[in-house]
Amino acid sequence: MRKKTIALIAHDHKKDDLVEWVEINKEKLSEYNLCGTGTTAKVVEKKTGLKVIKYLSGPLGGDQQIGAKIAEGHIDMVIFFWDPLEAQPHDPDVKALLRIAVLYDIPIANNKSTADLIIKK
Ligand code: PGA
Repeated sequence: MRKKTIALIAHDHKKDDLVEWVEINKEKLSEYNLCGTGTTAKVVEKKTGLKVIKYLSGPLGGDQQIGAKIAEGHIDMVIFFWDPLEAQPHDPDVKALLRIAVLYDIPIANNKSTADLIIKK
């Protein structure tokens, strides 16, 4: 069976939360291919030792790259801790990614408790 792929994305104030979540779920996550937007992927890889394929940084098109991979059928799950307290310069890209995940019926967790639920499955 094909190894499933999880995309990891976190806005700047949410990166620590994501790293902590990945650390807690490291064993489970090691069963998946991981990818992520540039800075998130770099930080997760550095702090947890898991290999993470790096796309461009979110504001430079990384969210759009991940959206395209979803449309092509290469991403099975998204953990996206977006920041509800700060406006993002690339908000249209964020919206587009959320839309494409819904369109292709890809599980997308936007907070820790949802991420816990979908990783337990
Ligand atoms: P980053 O992008 O991982 O490169 O910081 C995340 C985002 O802002 O969408």
